Amino acid sequence: MQNRLRGACLLLSGGVDSALTASMLLDEGAEVAALFIDYGQPAADAERSASCDIARTMNLPWRDLTVRGLLVQAAGEIPGRNDLLIASASACFPHHDVALGVHAGTGYPDCSPAHRQAWQQLLDVQHGGTTRLLTPLIDLTKGEVFALAARAGLPLDKTHSCESSNQPCGTCRSCKDRESIVARA
Ligand SMILES: [Zn+2]
Repeated sequence: MQNRLRGACLLLSGGVDSALTASMLLDEGAEVAALFIDYGQPAADAERSASCDIARTMNLPWRDLTVRGLLVQAAGEIPGRNDLLIASASACFPHHDVALGVHAGTGYPDCSPAHRQAWQQLLDVQHGGTTRLLTPLIDLTKGEVFALAARAGLPLDKTHSCESSNQPCGTCRSCKDRESIVARA
């Protein structure tokens, strides 16, 4: 393909999923630029700090984008969130691949292979087939993601998982996933 840049814009939220995605892309030799999006999520401050720390640890260029006006509930599914993230990455980094750390097991439509395929078609229309949507974790469960992240030696202490607040709340889905996986490890 002509004018194909090999860079990838990774949506780096500062959680384990996006950190592992970064590590996998770097292992494949991709040039990765990190994008953090503050869309008004309750844990935005902790996520921003974790995202920045992880980018620094991995030597990734880091940018942030602030989006206001969404009504974000305390935790759980945010319908259309990944649409917002992918569209923002595509607009902020045209001619880059877009990488997103979605994984299996959530049941959310915007984490599904069908969603990935539909977005790939849209990116093909927009960028003439030069932009891939990279979702290397899409078939992995959360437990498998944690196991791979631990095996890769990722700085898990730098990640932030809680969806509800800047301190782990202990009750949201992400806190429970993290606790149960750490307890089994
Ligand atoms: Zn939590």
